[in-house]
Amino acid sequence: MSACLFCHIVDRTIQSTIMYEDEHALAFQDIHPQAPVHLLVIPKRHVQSVQDLETTDAVLLGHLLRVCVKLAKEKGISESGYRIVTNSGFHAGQTVLHLHFHLLGGRSMIWPPG
Ligand code: AMP
Ligand code: ZN
Repeated sequence: MSACLFCHIVDRTIQSTIMYEDEHALAFQDIHPQAPVHLLVIPKRHVQSVQDLETTDAVLLGHLLRVCVKLAKEKGISESGYRIVTNSGFHAGQTVLHLHFHLLGGRSMIWPPG
């Protein structure tokens, strides 16, 4: 049995608030939201981080970003703007080792990030 938290969200052994699902992708609400809109978009297949994607995953990667854009539209933050973030590794603060894109919006954000 996988020890990966997000794999368990995919297989429903851990509960989450799912906002979108298709054959390859899942999106759900972040349990500790950092903005009025804070969703996580993940591949259903276990991939540790963006640097573990292969050339053959280019379509999957594009699809995950398209899902972020679609959800931003649905959440009504397309015009006000939003941020898509993926953390990879220790210095970036990645805490869950299953690739995920944070979709953050609904408030102004600062740059650079901390
Ligand atoms: P990161 O720090 O980039 O690895 O992001 C991991 C994110 O997963 C954080 O924003 C957490 O709040 C979120 N998270 C952790 N556990 C859960 C969970 N059970 N359901 C939804 N989001 C979670
Ligand atoms: Zn996983």
